[in-house]
Amino acid sequence: MTKPPLTLYLAAPRGFCAGVDRAIKIVEMAIQKWGAPVYVRHEIVHNKFVVDSLKEQGAVFVEELDECPDDRPVIFSAHGVAKSVPEAAEARQMIYVDATCPLVSKVHIEAERHSENGLQIIMIGHAGHPETIGTMGQLPEGEVLLVETVADVATVDVRDPEKLAFVTQTTLSIDDTKDIVAALQARFLAIQGPHKEDICYATTNRQEAVKAMAPKIDALLVVGAPNSSNSRRLVEVGARNGCKYAQLVQRATDIDWRALEGIKSIGITAGASAPEVLVDEVIAALCDRFDVTVAEVETAKENVEFKVPRVLREPA
Ligand code: SF4
Repeated sequence: MTKPPLTLYLAAPRGFCAGVDRAIKIVEMAIQKWGAPVYVRHEIVHNKFVVDSLKEQGAVFVEELDECPDDRPVIFSAHGVAKSVPEAAEARQMIYVDATCPLVSKVHIEAERHSENGLQIIMIGHAGHPETIGTMGQLPEGEVLLVETVADVATVDVRDPEKLAFVTQTTLSIDDTKDIVAALQARFLAIQGPHKEDICYATTNRQEAVKAMAPKIDALLVVGAPNSSNSRRLVEVGARNGCKYAQLVQRATDIDWRALEGIKSIGITAGASAPEVLVDEVIAALCDRFDVTVAEVETAKENVEFKVPRVLREPA
C-alpha cells in the first residue's frame, strides 16, 4: 500500500537546553564520584525517560529531603529550591549538590536584591510549580506574591504600591507574560523589573521556532512531559498561531493517529527536558505510516553551556 505524503517540519532549536544538560550531568557525575545510591530531590528535570535512565544508574528520586538518609549525597533539581532546603541539608551535615539552572539562580538573586532595596516582589508564575515554589522560597513568607493571570493583577494585595518589583518563572509563554507585565505596569506605575522578563533563552527560542512553523502545518506534536511547563507552553503557542491540531506526546505510543488522518504537513518540536531519542522515535513512527519529507525550520542557533559545580570537577 502506498503511504500518503507528509512534509515534516522539524523545529530548531528543540529539546534539551543547557540547564537540563547540566542537571543530568550533575547526577551522572555524582554517581561516578560517590557511588550509588545518590538521592535526587524532585525529578531532576521533568521527563520520565530521563528519570528512569538515571534510576537505572543508581539515582533515587524523592520529593522531600526528609526522605533522604544523612549519609548519602543529595542533588536539588534544575527547577531550584527554597532557601530552607539547603539550610536543612547543612543542618544535617549532608553532602548536597545544587543542580538549579544558573538562569533560575539569576532570578533568585534578582528577587533578593530587590528585597534588600525594600521592595516587595510580585512573581509571575504557575502556582505549585517547583520553580515558583523555589523562587518564592528565597524570601520570607509574604515578601513574594504570586500572580498567574492578567485578572490576578487587579486583585493582588500589595504592601506599598510604590515599592514593588516583579520577577517571572523562566518557562512561561512570552505572549501571556507580556500582557501580565503590561497590566502590572499599568496598575503599579513605579514597579521595577528586569529589562526583559526572566523567560530564558531556551524557552524563547523554542516558542519562536513553533511560531515560525505554525502557519505552515496541519498538526503539531510536542515531545515532552505533562508536568513540563515549557513543553505545555509550546502546545499553546502552536494552537494560538494557526496550527489546527497540537498535541503533547511523551513518546510515539501517545500519538493520536485518528487526529492525524488526512494531514499533509506536521511540525515536531520538543520541550527543554525531552531527549532527542524520543524525537527520533516519533519521527520513525510517522515514517511507518507516511511518505515523509523532512524540512528544518531553524530560527536561532544555540551555543550556551553551563559548567557543573566545582565539587564534581574535583577528584574524590
Ligand atoms: Fe534553565 Fe531555561 Fe533550561 Fe529552565 S528551560 S533549565 S531556565 S535553560
